[in-house]
Amino acid sequence: MAGIAFFSARPYERTFFDRENSGHSLNYLDAPLDEKTARLAAGSSVVCAFVNDHLDRLTMQILKENGIGLIALRCAGFNNVDLKAAAELGLPVVRVPAYSPYAVAEHTLALLLTLCRKTHRAFNRVREGNFSLDGLMGFDIHGKTVGVLGTGKIGAIFSRIMLGMGCRVLAYDLRPDTALEQAGVLYVDIDRLFAESDIISLHTPLLPQTQHIINATTLAKMKKGVVILNTSRGALLDTKAVVRALKSEHIGGLAIDVYEQEEGLFFQDLSGRILQDDTIARLLTFPNVLVTAHQAFFTDTAMQQIAQTTLRNIDDWQAGKPLINLVPG
Ligand code: NAD
Repeated sequence: MAGIAFFSARPYERTFFDRENSGHSLNYLDAPLDEKTARLAAGSSVVCAFVNDHLDRLTMQILKENGIGLIALRCAGFNNVDLKAAAELGLPVVRVPAYSPYAVAEHTLALLLTLCRKTHRAFNRVREGNFSLDGLMGFDIHGKTVGVLGTGKIGAIFSRIMLGMGCRVLAYDLRPDTALEQAGVLYVDIDRLFAESDIISLHTPLLPQTQHIINATTLAKMKKGVVILNTSRGALLDTKAVVRALKSEHIGGLAIDVYEQEEGLFFQDLSGRILQDDTIARLLTFPNVLVTAHQAFFTDTAMQQIAQTTLRNIDDWQAGKPLINLVPG
């Protein structure tokens, strides 16, 4: 059985991996993976990494020198891996391509509903004995035009949820989904989506082509008061341009579960520290901005699926079987 160096380990992950593990030696490490911590993997044959672990060339070179033969990502996205370097080093990279896409789509809905009905503010207010409605007026989602960028697994589910709420759904994807079209989604070019949507939700992977897809130029194409939702990857937004558009009130609401500079910030309790990141600090001052710390995936169903698939990927590698969840180099 494999020795697995499990970087960026959190207590809630251990419960699921210990339950699903059948004989591997799991070495849970609190540290994130980077060139400074890579040597902690010595003695293991597999590295298990998460979204903000650094898998650049130097880090993987050190892993390789220390006997690592497989990178097992316990997430879907792989934008944090230098795939060219991994291929050159002969390090296969596997991932968990799907684990309850419902979890992420439903969290996106939760963010939208919270933002548009201000339930987070009402919750605190009522607990303090303030039962007034001043400042709590929201808007109906029914009848709005929702633009969905990326209609893969998560975007497709979110689109269907929005159709179910009586919205007009516009979508943009390089590969339109005919079943979604039949369900009532209208594929349009990206500029039309920007121009006509009241709510825009991002579900494309982070790629060179999608980095900063929301920027000063594309924001200018959107309706005044647009609500933007991002549960995909932080760098889809040019956050500084978004802050400017919030200040000018061009953006009417923003809900993000991911942040461009989330590394070193998310998944940690920094409540007793001074926040050093001025951009997130500014974002947190807006009453119409909602931030969650990359928790869209975080349901019991998804965690169980992540643990099962990750360990199955490792079993297959050990048994010399085809790696069905191999990330192509
Ligand atoms: P997916 O691969 O099923 O779908 C991605 C879609 O984006 C595909 O339909 C693809 O054709 C489309 N696409 C790719 N490049 C595009 C481009 N340039 N323009 C338009 N469309 C493009 O992925 P998924 O499972 O739906 O996940 C989407 C993203 O959600 C992931 O890449 C990941 O970054 C993010 N995610 C976030 C969380 C979280 O907890 N917040 C959890 C899981 C996934």
